Amino acid sequence: MSVAALEIAVVGCGVAGQAAATFLADAGHRVTVFERFAEPRPLGAGLLLQPTGLAVLRALGLEGQAERLGARIDGLLGRNDLGHTVIDLAYADLHPEAHGVGIHRGALFGLLQERLQRSPAQLVTGAEIVDIERDGGRASVVEAGGRRQGPFNLVVVADGTHSQLRARVMPPARAPLYPWGCIWATIPDHRSFATAPGMLQQRLSGTTTMMGLLPVGQGLATLFWSLPAAALEPGRPIDMDSWRMEALALWPEAAGLIEQVADADGFARATYRHVTLPSWNVGPVLFIGDAAHGTSPQLGQGANLGLLDAYVLAQALAAGTDLAAALALFARRRDPAVRFYRQASHLLTPFFQSDRPLLGWARDALMGVACLAPGLSPIMTTTLAGLRRGWLSTDMLDGEGRYRLGS
Ligand SMILES: Cc1cc2nc3c(=O)[nH]c(=O)nc-3n(C[C@H](O)[C@H](O)[C@H](O)COP(=O)(O)OP(=O)(O)OC[C@H]3O[C@@H](n4cnc5c(N)ncnc54)[C@H](O)[C@@H]3O)c2cc1C
Repeated sequence: MSVAALEIAVVGCGVAGQAAATFLADAGHRVTVFERFAEPRPLGAGLLLQPTGLAVLRALGLEGQAERLGARIDGLLGRNDLGHTVIDLAYADLHPEAHGVGIHRGALFGLLQERLQRSPAQLVTGAEIVDIERDGGRASVVEAGGRRQGPFNLVVVADGTHSQLRARVMPPARAPLYPWGCIWATIPDHRSFATAPGMLQQRLSGTTTMMGLLPVGQGLATLFWSLPAAALEPGRPIDMDSWRMEALALWPEAAGLIEQVADADGFARATYRHVTLPSWNVGPVLFIGDAAHGTSPQLGQGANLGLLDAYVLAQALAAGTDLAAALALFARRRDPAVRFYRQASHLLTPFFQSDRPLLGWARDALMGVACLAPGLSPIMTTTLAGLRRGWLSTDMLDGEGRYRLGS
């Protein structure tokens, strides 16, 4: 039993929107994607694909290309300014073949966009959707110029963490800004400093100074630097001399990479939100991706969760008897993991980004030990790999060390 072919609008051509539109169009629904930019483009730098996200890319036929374009990541290694290990997690503790993939966002975007264009979905660019009007069981989208498109049986809102539509369509939704964000740049990594051990690496000093290095393949690495959100306001200058001195003092071995960020224009800026919705949908309007569950990127899960949303939505429509039943099924399947990662990210973030030095002290004292503790280490590694379905429940990898998607 499946829901008959629907007219579907997808708002936003980011990771979640691209994947959802492709799965839904391939399943026979008539899909139109609305993207505000005239030329859809990736926002931001490198990201870490977990075994869960890789499984969704496999379902789209893109896993092999993502592995080739990106860099294999074997784990997460964090040290503090005294050189003490704060986090040390290896995917191999789950299975010898288990790994993540660091990938440049542009490369992932290109793969998903090319795949979307091979599907029957229609793409409308330069279309900023400012409102959604509901009429009974159907909904129309309204462009910034006032043009109405639709009605559609289903509108999938995937317009990202700073979604404007969320507050309009779902006023009780909460999306406060985290007090800290980051700047990042993608730089050549000719000497393979960052790629040598195939790790996402972090250097930390207290809770106010943090630098991350993620190999993203093709001889590139992405450098992250934590800053208070107030310092990230558009137009506010970044003092590059101070940044360089601070970064070199924190991580002298990374001098070759730090020196490559020549000026402030080389950095992109990001702020994050802690998004909580009272429900995934209001009638025929469904939120997915960061628009539904944006968090701080501390656990590196956002894109992976968005890819899973897309896959599960298509599966739920294939299994449900009508739209309402399919959306209820989607919510039941996505709730446990999304709730866990939202809570865990929120709980952990102040230990890495805040003005609370005691939390940094507690992190340095306890987290490295926890990574080795027999009871805690598997919880932390399955959390990193995107496998958790709750504080007490987790999925496992299959016999080949890969995540297997449910039907
Ligand atoms: C510093 C940082 C590091 C991160 N690292 C990782 C990581 O390692 N691993 C990971 O999985 N995730 C990571 N994330 C999170 C990840 O980037 C997001 O979870 C992911 O990009 C969300 O995808 P999305 O499709 O929901 O939204 P987005 O990628 O934000 O896409 C939204 C799309 O909607 C469009 N849009 C917005 N408003 C409108 C409108 N009104 N009308 C039409 N179109 C609109 C936008 O132009 C955009 O194309 C990181 C995030 C940050 C900030």
